[in-house]
Amino acid sequence: MTTAFAAAVHNISDFDRLTARALLEAMASAAVVLDGAGTLVAHNARAEDLLQTHVLAVVGKVIEGPFRMMADRARRMGDGTTSVTFDQALGNTWYHVSVYPIWAQTGGPMLQIIAATDITQQKHAEFEIRESEARLEEATRIAQLGTYKLHWDTEAIQWSPHMFVIHGLSPGSFIHTRETYNALVHPEDRELFDQYRRDQFEGKALRGAEYRIVRKGAVRWLRLDGRVLFDAEGEPYASFGTCQDITEAKQREQELKSLLRRNAILYEALDASPIGVAVVTTDGPRPEVFYVNAEFERLTGFKTSTLAKNTIEALQPKEEAGEWQKVAQALNTSSAGAFELLCARLNGTSFLAQLEIAPVRDHPGRDAMVFVLNLRDITIDRQRAEALLQSQKMEALGQLSGGVAHEINNLLQPMLALSELGIDIADSDPEKVRKYFEVIASSGRKARDIVRQVLTFARRDAPQLAPYAISFLVADALRLLQSGLPPGISLEQDIAVGDAEAVVNPTQVSQVVLNLVKNAADAMDGEGAVRVALTVVDLDVAAAAALTLTPGRWIRLRVADEGCGMDAYTLSRVFEPFFTTKLAGRGTGLGLSVVYSIVTGWGGTLKLESEVDHGTTAVVYIPTAPSS
Ligand code: ADP
Ligand code: MG
Repeated sequence: MTTAFAAAVHNISDFDRLTARALLEAMASAAVVLDGAGTLVAHNARAEDLLQTHVLAVVGKVIEGPFRMMADRARRMGDGTTSVTFDQALGNTWYHVSVYPIWAQTGGPMLQIIAATDITQQKHAEFEIRESEARLEEATRIAQLGTYKLHWDTEAIQWSPHMFVIHGLSPGSFIHTRETYNALVHPEDRELFDQYRRDQFEGKALRGAEYRIVRKGAVRWLRLDGRVLFDAEGEPYASFGTCQDITEAKQREQELKSLLRRNAILYEALDASPIGVAVVTTDGPRPEVFYVNAEFERLTGFKTSTLAKNTIEALQPKEEAGEWQKVAQALNTSSAGAFELLCARLNGTSFLAQLEIAPVRDHPGRDAMVFVLNLRDITIDRQRAEALLQSQKMEALGQLSGGVAHEINNLLQPMLALSELGIDIADSDPEKVRKYFEVIASSGRKARDIVRQVLTFARRDAPQLAPYAISFLVADALRLLQSGLPPGISLEQDIAVGDAEAVVNPTQVSQVVLNLVKNAADAMDGEGAVRVALTVVDLDVAAAAALTLTPGRWIRLRVADEGCGMDAYTLSRVFEPFFTTKLAGRGTGLGLSVVYSIVTGWGGTLKLESEVDHGTTAVVYIPTAPSS
């Protein structure tokens, strides 16, 4: 508009103020025409505000005020022969100012048009945009974000300065093409990145891509997040996004992952351990268990999931305090220790355990942060040790019986001597002979008793073992002893195992049954039931190991009573020959040792389960014949 006007003015041969005025009025700006001296030649109505004085008063005079300022600025900016434009602020108002030189064709004085358009609103909008752009730039700088823009039609890519920093490139030296960029990408991630780029061009990849580049020989992780830009018609024309160096975050993530993996492996390894492992803290008022492995859980019933409720005191059986006090002391003094003690399960039962405590300190000399507990069930070990001890005792007894033979020899001496003497005086002194016979008989009885008792476990007589239908042997034995039982004692039998055969000696079977049933009856004080049961059992490897037997088929004989039971002390000694708790004349203390000796002689074993005041069950495992 103003350019057209300038041309028009230029072509007016005889410059006419009114024509000029009309043309000026047609302009959208506030406009004035000045001559070289700054005298107002013409103006339009919009200019009046800026002229500040009434128009008529200033036409033909040199003006002051805003237009004068603009004219001066234009003169400073150019040589006065070309047009200049600038933005000028006057108070709160912004003007876009254009200043054009005009020459009358006649070569009259040089004039200039000054046109000022109020652009305050645009200016503010521009400021706002600039400010938000500046803020965005600052934000991306702080976040170490690069930004890029991808033009779909040309595949041209624009990068923000930080993109070059991220990629370790200087802006001038990098010509961005698909190939040059691919060369930066880590070989293993090129395909992934190419796919991401293809997706972007198809408008698909709105999620981020994480990939590696090689920056000056070092691998860096980058993350791209892009979005598609649409034109006014809703057609996608470009995509734009941010790029971030996430190497450090990635490293931390990977460290965390490998840490977690290591942890998982560690936990699995601990769960594979045949030893119970627990970790205990002593921060709280009482030691608390915060980790248990699978074996510890199996042994005690403690579960990692319910550990909050598990203090270590739950492992201590009510009746067992002594050793556990030492455990508490070790925990209190941050010291290591090894203990053999009864350990309670959560279900109320208990087992003989070996417990080792190891303090874990973060600094030598400091109190332990946590304790590691190692727990093993040593019931079986103990049983094995006891069984070994037992067989040694029996061996000793075998030797002892040699000594007993010597005793009997001593008894035989007077018997032989007196009978020879007796033969000589049989006719002359019958009275003396009678006395001799009394001595001989009493010596014989003594010898018989000793032989009876000792032979069984010394096993010098090596009884013949053969397969017998065990049900019949046990039934025979029970029939024989039934009449000898006190009237209040009943005998319950469950001994039908068909014709299952056991490899035994029939006399010994009745000895075993007799001794066990007699003990059961004795324990019940004249009133109660003795239950005798036979079963065929198949022992698997674990069950057999627990009994120190070989896996396979066994005959099990159980004799159970509801009598007085035995305490731990009695139980530990019952297999000793001559150990008895019964009154003199009622017990010899040989019953169980004989039974033990017989049963182990068969290749079987004898176990006692007993609880004080609740009764005792004797369990005998008898070898079967191969066919049964
Ligand atoms: P005795 O019966 O002659 O005393 P044993 O060797 O048969 O000798 O038994 C040894 C001890 O074991 C008994 O004195 C008794 O204290 C204990 N005992 C054996 N069997 C039982 C039982 N069924 N109930 C309780 N105590 C028993
Ligand atoms: Mg007995």
